[in-house]
Amino acid sequence: MSTTMAVALRQVLGLLRGLGVTLRVLARPPVTVLYPERKPPVEPRFKGRHWLTRYADGLERCIGCELCVIVCPSQAIFVQAAENTPEHQVSRGERYAADFQINMLRCIFCGFCEEACPTGAIVLGHDYELAGPSRAALIYTKPMLTEPYPGASGRDPHREV
Ligand code: SF4
Ligand code: SF4
Repeated sequence: MSTTMAVALRQVLGLLRGLGVTLRVLARPPVTVLYPERKPPVEPRFKGRHWLTRYADGLERCIGCELCVIVCPSQAIFVQAAENTPEHQVSRGERYAADFQINMLRCIFCGFCEEACPTGAIVLGHDYELAGPSRAALIYTKPMLTEPYPGASGRDPHREV
């Protein structure tokens, strides 16, 4: 066999091997999904968008202690506390968060705030669609973060912490 023929044969064999790989992969189910029509599920411990949760009676869990502010490595949280009064009882503690903001552009979704919170007020949910039209829109305010009703975040409002 001449050298030219040997080279041609090697090239044909290489081509067939490549086609074999293509045919093998062709039979596998696709790994992609038709996003956003279909949303891929996340793992149970996935950390996404934050929520400020409520007790089952509707009172806010956040007591404005600012531990989450202290522990946050990105300095993404701002809390301004105020005193509860008998006429205006927002949380079970002496204080509540009059203002609460999270800068989602700074957050690295480490979950430290959730771990540090003594009342289980702040939780990281499963929502990962956090795009916004501007920088300002990605600073989540207290009305955006607070559950509209107990359990709206998916967390049991009866849980201890
Ligand atoms: S998840 Fe981490 S980075 Fe984000 S606000 Fe909480 S502590 Fe800060
Ligand atoms: S979310 Fe938790 S840690 Fe942060 S201020 Fe409220 S009670 Fe304190």
